[in-house]
Amino acid sequence: MRVLVLGAGFGGLELTTRLSEELGDDADVVLIDKADDFVMGFSKLDVMFGRTTADAVRHPYADVVMPGVRFVKADIRAIDPGGRSVETDAGRFDADVLVVALGADLDPAATPGLLEAGHEFYTPAGAFAAAEVLDSFTGGRVIVGVTSTPFKCPPAPSETVLMLHDFLVERGLRDKSDISLVMPLGSPIPPSPGASEALLTAFGERGITWSPDSLVRTLDPERRVAVLADGRELPFDLFLGVPRHRVPAVVAESGMCVDGWIPVDPLTLETKFPDVYAVGDVTSVGTPKAGVFSERQARAVADRLIARHRRVAPEATYDGTGLCFVEFGDDRIGRVEVTFRSGETPVGTFDAPSQEMRERKAHFGASRAKRWFGTDWTNH
Ligand SMILES: Cc1cc2nc3c(=O)[nH]c(=O)nc-3n(C[C@H](O)[C@H](O)[C@H](O)COP(=O)(O)OP(=O)(O)OC[C@H]3O[C@@H](n4cnc5c(N)ncnc54)[C@H](O)[C@@H]3O)c2cc1C
Repeated sequence: MRVLVLGAGFGGLELTTRLSEELGDDADVVLIDKADDFVMGFSKLDVMFGRTTADAVRHPYADVVMPGVRFVKADIRAIDPGGRSVETDAGRFDADVLVVALGADLDPAATPGLLEAGHEFYTPAGAFAAAEVLDSFTGGRVIVGVTSTPFKCPPAPSETVLMLHDFLVERGLRDKSDISLVMPLGSPIPPSPGASEALLTAFGERGITWSPDSLVRTLDPERRVAVLADGRELPFDLFLGVPRHRVPAVVAESGMCVDGWIPVDPLTLETKFPDVYAVGDVTSVGTPKAGVFSERQARAVADRLIARHRRVAPEATYDGTGLCFVEFGDDRIGRVEVTFRSGETPVGTFDAPSQEMRERKAHFGASRAKRWFGTDWTNH
């Protein structure tokens, strides 16, 4: 069974690793990505706030060495889901099973004024560039603003304002600065009321202004104001934006999308094309767009493929859960576990922030680096 995995992010890496560890040389997997290295989502914030360096958070794909797996660095130019093949700048690839794990692309140009007057911090390049901007920031009005839905890692903007608060305090700039968070959600983490309440308390204690149910539509570079969807205008000296998300162009052109994302069976991750699966941010599976969900979906697909290889009925399904660590500032981290099941109200638990949780978050990152890249890694 030849398996072609498109995209080596959280989903593609976990799927590939699981197939390799179970099937060894029989795995017959080709994993394709155009990037040289992988950067975990939360590492972007660590670099942005000077806790570590860009070089320290890159995981080179050259380290992906596993039985039965071939990593190919290539730009995927066309996907034929009916024929289970792709065209890339390194040639054509065919498979018995195709898994699309190409994530969500970011489109800062879709928000007028964002490129001219603000900074996006959701791509590795954007976050690393924002680190330099913050390094030379001398204080003023800062807005962290979301420009559209859906967006990756819904807790990340809340984490950003709390980390920003600490960053400005350490530099003696907090008294000279205002921090505002503009979010399209009614609460910071809707499925977890406990986490939302704790975040709102943390914002209140730090004097951070919270604007729920709001989106930033445009930035006016001349007047340096952010214009919200409801017409309100917020002046800024520094704007850190979450740009518009969309599927990569090659996915949009493949005919797999409905309303902008790839629909899948929420339990099996199958698309409407036979033997074509999609996992993670590229789908409209109904979970938030976050690495932990992509990874767990990939595990379910891998287990189904392993069963198929062993000629037994596949039983594994995706359970809709994901666990994520939330930076609360002051060196404390909380933990949220949420479950999204089709047709049910999402539910979530919350572990209050503590310093001890930092070790668990570090273990989360280190265990992925070891498992996927075979390397020993500590995130700051
Ligand atoms: C600031 C920030 C903080 C975050 N924090 C967390 C967190 O704490 N926990 C968490 O779980 N998630 C977090 N996330 C979200 C997380 O990073 C993503 O949701 C996750 O990476 C999605 O995994 P994926 O496998 O679906 O796609 P991705 O990881 O985005 O992988 C997609 C891959 O496809 C490749 N690709 C795309 N197009 C092509 C093409 N045409 N040809 C070849 N290759 C291509 C890309 O190079 C990429 O490697 C955060 C995100 C941000 C921005």
